[in-house]
Amino acid sequence: RRRERNIASLVNSRLPQKMIDFLKVAGELGQDMGWEVYAVGGFVRDILLARPNFDLDLVVEGDAIAYARRLARQLGGRVKAHVKFKTAVVILDDQRVDVATARLEYYEYPAALPTVELSSIKMDLYRRDFTINALALRINPGRFGQLVDFFGAEQDMKNKAIRVLHSLSFVEDPTRILRAIRFERRFEFQIGGQTLRLIKNALSLDLFSKLSGTRIMHELQLIMAEENPLACLNRMQELGIMEAIHPLLKLSADRVQVLMELGKVNNWYKLLYLEPRVVPWKLYLLGLTMGIKRDQIGQVTSRLRFTTKEEREFLQLRDMIGDALMRLMSWREDKSRLSRLSAILRPIPLEGVLFLMARSRKEHIRRGISQYLTRLRDVTIDVSGTDLQEMGLAPGPAYSAILVRVLEAKIDGRAQTREDQLRLAKRLGRALSRTCKEGDGS
Ligand code: ATP
Repeated sequence: RRRERNIASLVNSRLPQKMIDFLKVAGELGQDMGWEVYAVGGFVRDILLARPNFDLDLVVEGDAIAYARRLARQLGGRVKAHVKFKTAVVILDDQRVDVATARLEYYEYPAALPTVELSSIKMDLYRRDFTINALALRINPGRFGQLVDFFGAEQDMKNKAIRVLHSLSFVEDPTRILRAIRFERRFEFQIGGQTLRLIKNALSLDLFSKLSGTRIMHELQLIMAEENPLACLNRMQELGIMEAIHPLLKLSADRVQVLMELGKVNNWYKLLYLEPRVVPWKLYLLGLTMGIKRDQIGQVTSRLRFTTKEEREFLQLRDMIGDALMRLMSWREDKSRLSRLSAILRPIPLEGVLFLMARSRKEHIRRGISQYLTRLRDVTIDVSGTDLQEMGLAPGPAYSAILVRVLEAKIDGRAQTREDQLRLAKRLGRALSRTCKEGDGS
């Protein structure tokens, strides 16, 4: 058996105390039940790379569901079990932990592995995507902190390399191509030479066309949630993957430009910690599909297996943006009112508003949209329907007309206080009832 390095001191220095305590408890329970328990995957990788990661995955060389139930009972949490997959999720107040059973029968390996010689943790790790994700950390007492590295992950981390575990990896699961790119760009690693050849080979076999749109979309969503999605998309283009997904998705120079702007705007918004949060793929997909004609967009959304509802919403969003772009052209900061800008933007979902901000070359429009997002969209007025009733106005459609006008006035700084707003509402009410009477008379 290869020597296992003990990284307990690294674990202790890089994880929050709460997490260390949890791992200890989880290891002791494994010991009690007579099973080895490991932390695995990205969690272990990120300890070594000194990156915060609180998504803990445990693997038990035993019955994961029975283990998870006892762990939850001990810590006062809940369990969601997937009997078919022999996995469970332990849900605690401030933490979710995935627990899996180390199994021998994940895939049929064409390479006819000498299965009997492999421990179950080794088999479990062997089915994973890259060496850096195929690490395990023992947590049972006495062995706590021992790093299980069968495939040279530590060496690959030193060399900053993304490497698969065997040559059929991409044939088994082509989504790993997108995962390779995602990790490469995230860590600023390089996909290894042999691994890159295997990717090119898989692409030349057109394995992407057999991949379901749902799985591609899932990976695209993960890519777009990365710190720098454009770096991933550029790499995908370089390898011909964008067109392999759909010819209409070729990453043109124009699209790169817009995606860059979208990245900036997205980061700006993220730093403001405003609600709602951006759904990154909704934002970036607008850039990726820029220039595709309305009657062709369905080709892309159906390749990516959008539901009818998702497709309708995406088309609507694109239409709203097109319409808003036209209306924004005539908006002038000096002469037009902020309330008008607000009225243009209000019906548009956040991702659309950010897209408009990224697309606007005119500085005053960007500034206006920024004001809208940070201030205007949250403006509420201090008068209500009850106030209108107390003024003796008959309830009806006039109410919302008046309240909208009051809101506009407040946004434009013409009715800041409740008194101002009541006065304005009264005036509008009188004017409205006059026009109604005139209307009755004619
Ligand atoms: P992230 O930091 O993006 O969450 P992660 O490594 O934690 O990355 P997950 O998608 O949460 O990634 O997957 C957890 C683990 O499961 C990975 O570390 C990897 O070992 C394994 N895994 C995930 N997807 C695949 C796949 N398509 N093929 C093989 N192994 C996979």
